[in-house]
Amino acid sequence: MKVFDRLAEHDYEKVVFCNDNESGLRAIIAIHDTTLGPALGGVRMRPFPTEEAALIDVLRLARGMTYKAAISGVDLGGGKSVILGDSATEKTPERLQALGRRIHSLAGEYIAGQDIGTDSYDMGVIRGVTPHVACVSEEAGGAGDPSQATAYGVVCGIRAVLEAVTGSDSLSGRHVVVQGLGNVGYHVARFCHQDGARLTVTDVRDEPVREAVRELGATAVAPGAVYEVECDVFSPCSVGAVVNDDTITRFRCQAIAGGANNVLAEPRHDGALVERGIVYGPDYLVNSGGLIRCQEEVRGEPTDDDRIFTKVSQIYDQTLQVIAKAGELGIGTGAAADRLAEERLAAVRLAAAGAA
Ligand code: NAD
Repeated sequence: MKVFDRLAEHDYEKVVFCNDNESGLRAIIAIHDTTLGPALGGVRMRPFPTEEAALIDVLRLARGMTYKAAISGVDLGGGKSVILGDSATEKTPERLQALGRRIHSLAGEYIAGQDIGTDSYDMGVIRGVTPHVACVSEEAGGAGDPSQATAYGVVCGIRAVLEAVTGSDSLSGRHVVVQGLGNVGYHVARFCHQDGARLTVTDVRDEPVREAVRELGATAVAPGAVYEVECDVFSPCSVGAVVNDDTITRFRCQAIAGGANNVLAEPRHDGALVERGIVYGPDYLVNSGGLIRCQEEVRGEPTDDDRIFTKVSQIYDQTLQVIAKAGELGIGTGAAADRLAEERLAAVRLAAAGAA
């Protein structure tokens, strides 16, 4: 791979390769853009088939964080890190501390958070060596897991897409399909249930499905059959790329809005959804509730749920704004979200250049 060509393509600021022989840490920190503030993004730990695959992933995710912060009005930049290895067998406090020391050497330019393969306990371990970390467990003095705030924002996004397709944002009597009942998805299902929605759920694990059937009166469906369920809103809350060439013709929903990152397999699927008359709540906007909560933690604000949920509820208006812009320009909502994010970044850069 021509690394610098790849960095130049989307104007990445910095990539740090971290190696620590003593602990065995191999990690990459990518800082995409700090126009809006220090780059915040989770630490993802998973085995990668190749080092190149790890680099591609961390770059893509860091850029996604820039757009997420920009569209959601958060004053943070975009960054991400990956630890190469299996989180179930290779995650040790020594490796997390070694990563923490590298993060500390960046003097606040990058702020870590939890992501796939790491949790708020791990962020507490990192906090032991650097203050530049969010989503730290409550026992270690932080705000803990942001998933509930993420889920609350997802439900605001679901309400907005419902408003766009039905003229009412009420969940009462609406049918919502939740794919993935993990930290985010289960809360999404619970919030929708509390607001009177009918639920169909799926997961590759049996336990949360059984729980949702028992606790929320949900109907269970096999993971492979979830796309064909006729519903008002399909809410992807598991893996990415679930809108792809195979699934696009199978959806029987009016709208899609969920917690998962990178819901569209490729940007062209944005237009494909428009052609099928499905309104899409862009992933990085709809799932930005956790980031909004992290910003409060980084600022040292008390993480009072009511106050944070009030802030997160702005996702409703922002999603409607994106849908309106997409309609005006005749483009997909994913592209419209990108434009709005880029407009904010350009305006802040212009103001900074004017002030200099
Ligand atoms: P999680 O690991 O707790 O939950 C994911 C769930 O999806 C698990 O229950 C898993 O068994 C299930 N799953 C995996 N593959 C599946 C499949 N093929 N079909 C159905 N279910 C499947 O993760 P999470 O923290 O809930 O995050 C979910 C998604 O939301 C991820 O894409 C994550 O990147 C994104 N996200 C999370 C947050 C957050 O605050 N946690 C914030 C922004 C975005």
